[in-house]
Amino acid sequence: MPKSTAQPEVMPEKPAHAQPVPITVTYGDGIGPEIMPAVLRILDAAGARIAPEIVEVGEKAYNSGITSGIPESAWESIRRTRILLKAPFLTPQGSGHKSLTVTMRKTLGMFANVRPSVTYHPYVQTNHPAMDLVIIRENEEDLYAGIEHRQTDEVYQCLKLISIPGSEKIIRYAFEYARANGRKKVTCMTKDNIMKITDGTFSRLFREIGAEYPDIQQEHMIIDIGAARLAERPEHFDVVVTLNLYGDILSDIAAEVSGSVGLAGSANIGQAFAMFEAVHGSAPDIAGMGIANPSGLLLAALQMLVHIGQADIAETIQNAWLCAIEDGIHTGDIFNEPYTRKRVGTDEFAQAVIDRLGSRPKQLPAVDFSKNQGKPVSVQSTERPRAHKELVGVDVFLHWPNREPEVLADLLRPAVSAHLPLNMITNRGIKVFPDGNPATFCTDHWRCRFKSAQLKPVAYANVLELLHQIHESGLDIIKTENLYTFDGEAGFSLGQGE
Ligand code: NAD
Repeated sequence: MPKSTAQPEVMPEKPAHAQPVPITVTYGDGIGPEIMPAVLRILDAAGARIAPEIVEVGEKAYNSGITSGIPESAWESIRRTRILLKAPFLTPQGSGHKSLTVTMRKTLGMFANVRPSVTYHPYVQTNHPAMDLVIIRENEEDLYAGIEHRQTDEVYQCLKLISIPGSEKIIRYAFEYARANGRKKVTCMTKDNIMKITDGTFSRLFREIGAEYPDIQQEHMIIDIGAARLAERPEHFDVVVTLNLYGDILSDIAAEVSGSVGLAGSANIGQAFAMFEAVHGSAPDIAGMGIANPSGLLLAALQMLVHIGQADIAETIQNAWLCAIEDGIHTGDIFNEPYTRKRVGTDEFAQAVIDRLGSRPKQLPAVDFSKNQGKPVSVQSTERPRAHKELVGVDVFLHWPNREPEVLADLLRPAVSAHLPLNMITNRGIKVFPDGNPATFCTDHWRCRFKSAQLKPVAYANVLELLHQIHESGLDIIKTENLYTFDGEAGFSLGQGE
């Protein structure tokens, strides 16, 4: 078991102090300029100790030719405050424009996406009255590394990268979050039955790190059945931790089945930076009408207050907000007869929350941050010894338009040496040589594995000689992947059917 180091890797802001905490604020596009002032008004009325700096980001920046949508002045403020409260942005259609949210998450190293999905039955309509879960999604790795290539006429590739530090950070974050928020169970979802090395590492680390949290119940589910169960029985889940792509899909399923997408806030947490936003977009269809629900952004702002050590203010506001919801003061998007008593616009809703500051809800469960809720979360890094790594072979990927593996094996024969015999050929991962099945469809993309007998170490010069010989025989090498053992254990998967 690796040892924890003493230094926390993630340091949220220190607990409340007399000086207001500077935060960067963007008004965004569409309904953003309506809901952000409403939220800031509520924070101000509740005595939040913050000093907002408003920056111009989004549509106006795009229109002035800044393709990222983020001018340097905005970066300057964010770099200084390290906290961003962000209204939704319009992402322009067409090429040339990147998603601003994705740019910010990646640039600022925000590794954790934290999305609570809660229902407010019976005041907000839902099929799942008891749903109250948080999805913690890894935010930086996986297929989102954006490393894609076209390799042959027929085949394209997207690299899935999973790292030990990246996985460890998010898994520890999930357990620490559960502890800090009085949650009882963490469910990990992966596809480790198929991706035994990448997803397998994530689930192994989950079990390994989980052993340090005996007070938290733990379970692992394969993502497909996990997602199905989350849609059908969301009340089974408490905290869910998962990889980037699965988390993206799962959090939208959770938001959808909660019945209240407009009420969901989310936090993006990194080593040094954090960004808080509503889950919904800029809602251009209702922009300028004064009817948008500010709740998603407000709940995100409350996550921000907890993060900067002002959980007391967050608690006061959240309880006032719950009072407004159960008093039937609703914006149009959550209109719900007979529980809606008054249909209101953005500003009137904000005022209803302000009027209830200091009250606690009578029917919905009140939040109580003094009782093991609302503590800022920090995670610690671990030091792991470096493994002893040895080269034992190479996978050579070829672009070869013929569809007969036996013919390819013949072409490769002159390149084979005693050091690196041809172990197998696969096509899209399925073994087609030796002893392939004639029914297997082959594309023009071939993986030829040359591996030493009994995984005996080989010299890189042997690999170079092999590649030279293959090139000499006129075959088109599109890439190679070295085969290593780590402390004697193979660091590569078998071919399907091997
Ligand atoms: P959307 O979330 O803006 O709107 C979907 C529907 O929900 C609309 O009918 C809208 O009126 C309603 N809605 C959304 N928020 C609401 C609120 N607070 N109160 C009441 N009703 C609300 O999704 P969309 O229409 O697909 O996207 C619009 C734009 O927002 C696009 O440019 C998209 O790229 C962008 N977007 C931005 C973010 C972000 O900045 N984080 C997230 C999602 C979408």
